[in-house]
This record gives sequence, C-alpha cells and structure tokens, in this order.
Amino acid sequence: MQSHTLQRYHERLLDERNTLLSQRDQALATIQEAIHPPGENQVLPSEGIDVEMSLDEGAVSRLEQIDAALEMIKNGTFGTCSQCGCRIPDDRLQEIPSASCCVSCEESHDRS
Ligand SMILES: [Zn+2]
Repeated sequence: MQSHTLQRYHERLLDERNTLLSQRDQALATIQEAIHPPGENQVLPSEGIDVEMSLDEGAVSRLEQIDAALEMIKNGTFGTCSQCGCRIPDDRLQEIPSASCCVSCEESHDRS
C-alpha cells in the first residue's frame, strides 16, 4: 500500500479514536456526576446507575478495533486480512478503516 494512502487511513483512525475517547470521557463524567452530585444533601437518583450499561459496549470494542488497526499500520500488516492473509480491498478499508479481515472472512465468521 502506498504510504500516503496508509497515512490517510492512519489519520482517519486517529480521528475516530479521539472522537470515541471523548465520548467515553463524557459518559464517564456523567456517571461520576450522577454518583457524586455536586453540592450537599443531594439525593442520589432513585434508579441505580449501571456503569457497565452507561459505557457503550460498542464504542469500547470500536476502540479496540481501532487500536488493533493502528498497531497493524505500525507493523506494516495493515490492509491484510487477519484470517486468510489476502489483501483487503481499498473500498472496504475506505468504508471501515479498522476492518481487520476481508468481507468473506467476516461473513463466514458471522455465520459460525
Ligand atoms: Zn480473509
């Protein structure tokens, strides 16, 4: 893959990573505030706050995927299917820069 193409994916992944991180920080801040309300004698909200639920699980796994993709850029394996080793088509990477396997591997993974 040409280095400027790789650079573009790298930037997109970093952008997406920053967005997800700030979303997560915001969610955490909201949870903190709910657990420790500012000011005295505040009654805790009646319904319990489920920290696990409040943190979007999808966002956490997205972050992991992005980190893995950034690692692959570092290792020079970005754009290669982690399952079958084939080259992931550019149009797939443009759509999902953090994709770690080709469409057919992902489909067979989904089926299993
Ligand atoms: Zn594959």
